[in-house]
Amino acid sequence: MADHTLALSGGLHMPWSWCGHCERTYATGTCRLIRFTPDALHPHPATLKLCPYSDCNASTVRYQWQWANLLQQHPEYPATPSQNVVYMR
Ligand SMILES: [Zn+2]
Repeated sequence: MADHTLALSGGLHMPWSWCGHCERTYATGTCRLIRFTPDALHPHPATLKLCPYSDCNASTVRYQWQWANLLQQHPEYPATPSQNVVYMR
């Protein structure tokens, strides 16, 4: 059986993202989806993807960074960040 996690172990792709708004990390792909109910004016309303931390309402489209980018600026940071910890940019 194929194990997709093996593809992430090569170091090319970090499965972590960092929120530029609350400066905390989360597993890439994690987000809070906010769906709007279609109505006459908005038959195809957008779906908002928000930072998974419930006290942060930043859009992941604008604020999601690759953790690898943070590591380049802060080599002292761990390759696997802790969730709910603020990492200053
Ligand atoms: Zn956030």
